[in-house]
Amino acid sequence: MESNGKPVEAASSTGNDVRNVIIIGSGPAGYTAALYTARANLSPLLIAGNLDPKTSRIKGGQLMYTSDIENFPGAITVPETDMDTLDNLYGDAQDAAIANLHGVSGPNLMKRMELQARHFGAEMIEEFVSEVNFCSHPSSLYTVKLADGREFQSRSIIIATGAAARTLGIPAEEKFFGQGGGVSTCATCDGHSYRGKTVAVVGGGDSAMEEASYLARIVNKVYIIHRRDEFRASRIMLQRAKENPKIEFLLHAQIVDITGKPHPQGDKMKFFADKEVVGAAVLQDTRDSSTRTVEMDGIFVAIGHTPNTDLFKHQLKMDEAGYLEHDKHLRAIPSMQCANPEMRRLEHIPGVFVAGDVSDHVYRQAITAAGMGCQAAIEAERYLAEAMVAEKGLPASAVDISDQSIAQSHWSSERENGESTILERVEEVAERCETAQHEAAK
Ligand code: NAP
Repeated sequence: MESNGKPVEAASSTGNDVRNVIIIGSGPAGYTAALYTARANLSPLLIAGNLDPKTSRIKGGQLMYTSDIENFPGAITVPETDMDTLDNLYGDAQDAAIANLHGVSGPNLMKRMELQARHFGAEMIEEFVSEVNFCSHPSSLYTVKLADGREFQSRSIIIATGAAARTLGIPAEEKFFGQGGGVSTCATCDGHSYRGKTVAVVGGGDSAMEEASYLARIVNKVYIIHRRDEFRASRIMLQRAKENPKIEFLLHAQIVDITGKPHPQGDKMKFFADKEVVGAAVLQDTRDSSTRTVEMDGIFVAIGHTPNTDLFKHQLKMDEAGYLEHDKHLRAIPSMQCANPEMRRLEHIPGVFVAGDVSDHVYRQAITAAGMGCQAAIEAERYLAEAMVAEKGLPASAVDISDQSIAQSHWSSERENGESTILERVEEVAERCETAQHEAAK
């Protein structure tokens, strides 16, 4: 693998250079878009964010708060050197070795994604974007301003700012949040750590019902804690939860405090000696404010998600919940409040693509976000190739810049055979045309 990794802060600090593509956001969608655009030699700039304690936004996204990842294909702890050993085991011995494998942690997976994107040449800045103007077209360049004052211009933008799980907002929640502390916002990510234990799911919507039903397959008991006795959940999902003998509803209740107990690893590992995990939740009755304490080992907060789209308000079209809308090529759609009437008339914003949870409230998986990041990168590449074809005055048929052709150009075998990227092909054809014109003019 040829490496052309760039340092984290390599990007021009004066910010006066024009970029081919800027990617905003560093979850699976952002890193995948960075990897693909880097391999296409587009020199992408990834604005990865940093840590904002107020909103829990963090470089790497939601998976940074997840312990073991079990459902990202390939993200499993088997060192390359042990792969052969494992393959050469048979029967029970191999089954036992496979049973001992486990998923990599969320932060580990995100670090791997970051390193892979940087290895292929993506530049990264650990800062938040403070402003971007999509209504400025038809200038054909977008300006991205960072919180530290730097400014960059780009021909295309991939928005992968993700979504943040809503949290209860009580101080104790922060103390036990993530990293095995006992409070989580993702049952499919963290549920397996609670095998045989007692957990609670907070919320009365479909997410809460789904998470509770999922957890009931793993744990001994699940409480659903909801602040009313009416539910937003669909009848069928509510019914399923009600019929599950492992699920008990605690209604008219909200968590006002969480108490801890010593960390189970505390007597074995010094690091955990003074750490605590969730031991019980203090519930307040929403009708008479009386309180009671219920013992539990884990709390899953399922009270909805908020997409990180504040930056794009009045510029890009969003659904009622604030998720970005897009067409089938993942192109962003202008908002009817876009200040520039010329932009409002467009079906999509040229060169602006969306990927991952910022536009997906249905699947919300790391792998689906990564898939969208790949698609958005290919679409951005096509957009830039089309612009170059037009700029060079080439006929549209001169180079095949269809999505299929670009996708094929990403196959590793093509790159190993020294095939050009799509933009390089456009450049080569343009040069050949120019030479032919010179020859003809002689
Ligand atoms: P949701 O429908 O908005 O439900 C959120 C729940 O959290 C509500 O019951 C709400 O209580 C409660 N809540 C909100 N803030 C709270 C707080 N601070 N403290 C305590 N409780 C609080 O969100 P969702 O369940 O994530 O669903 C979002 C969308 O995704 C929905 O359209 C849903 O149908 C869809 N979805 C579908 C599936 C599926 O079909 N498989 C699965 C998951 C989600 P109140 O009711 O009292 O406001």
